[in-house]
Amino acid sequence: ELYNKVLELKGNIRVFCRCRPLNAEEIAAGTSMIVDFEAAKDDELTVRSNGVSKKTFKFDAVFSPQADQFDVFEDTAPFATSVLDGYNVCIFAYGQTGTGKTFTMEGTDEARGVNYRTLEELFRIIQERKSTYQYEISVSVLEVYNEQIRDLLVSGSQPGVTAKRLEIRQVAEGVHHVPGLVEAHVNNMNEVWEVLQTGSNGRAVGSTNANEHSSRSHCIHCVMVKGENLLNGECTRSKLWLVDLAGSERIAKTEVQGERLKEALNINRSLSALGDVISALATKSAHIPFRNSKLTHLLQDSLGGDSKTLMFVQISPNENDLSETLCSLNFASRVR
Ligand code: ADP
Ligand code: MG
Repeated sequence: ELYNKVLELKGNIRVFCRCRPLNAEEIAAGTSMIVDFEAAKDDELTVRSNGVSKKTFKFDAVFSPQADQFDVFEDTAPFATSVLDGYNVCIFAYGQTGTGKTFTMEGTDEARGVNYRTLEELFRIIQERKSTYQYEISVSVLEVYNEQIRDLLVSGSQPGVTAKRLEIRQVAEGVHHVPGLVEAHVNNMNEVWEVLQTGSNGRAVGSTNANEHSSRSHCIHCVMVKGENLLNGECTRSKLWLVDLAGSERIAKTEVQGERLKEALNINRSLSALGDVISALATKSAHIPFRNSKLTHLLQDSLGGDSKTLMFVQISPNENDLSETLCSLNFASRVR
């Protein structure tokens, strides 16, 4: 009974937890798994600390290492319908570097992730509704790195040295916009795939280590939907944000200096700001601190109100990652 109340209160926020499998190296090293799943309870997981104490976490859905991209998307698909119904939607992947954020969102060529599948679902529904609705879809791909916005669809832009500085402007009450950001119009999945590839390639430009850079920046896809009801002429505009967040691992200030410390502080600041905003929304707090980071400022129109939010909390099953895993699970419990 109490549980139902909590869900009702936090109605528009869903948290899914996904645990990656042990990789070949970990298996070879004889690493043990400290996260347990029970087939009968598909919304719970248990973490074993020091082999003895156990802590159980409950989410809207839990995906064990056996779950594949299809299983994950089955539970994500309803959000695509919401976007076409005119709701704003934000889907985030949160977690320590190496836990599968990019795997869940972007996926691989053979195992495509939420980004591709959501757009595919949008086009499937558009086809289904074509006698009564007409839709236009465009996509922007951007990165937030050190609190600066970079357009990943503009070739030649580099981290930190963006040709033109992109800023967030409020153009009307409750309408924020990034003037100058490329919006690529897409008519079919071939065009979507091209845009996704361009964005993904743009992410690596100018960095000596593409993987490291991507774990320190937020990679954001914004899908803009214009809909028209052909029967009554009513129009809708909605946005779907797909966000592969920077790695949440804590970095000791004593370990890094200079540019690396600045990066770490910016990541920490924006992830805490995101947590603060979502938990303020979940508890229906009067003040929502959107302005504390570029990320929350950018997504402001699509967080809260009747918008829907889905947070994937990605974790590792490796015993060596225990403390980061507990941090991520606690973060997730806070926003839920
Ligand atoms: P992150 O983006 O959080 O740093 P990645 O998505 O790059 O993590 O994942 C790290 C590695 O683990 C990649 O090689 C990825 O393909 C693999 N991986 C992550 N999650 C899964 C999964 N559920 N199934 C199979 N491989 C996975
Ligand atoms: Mg990644």
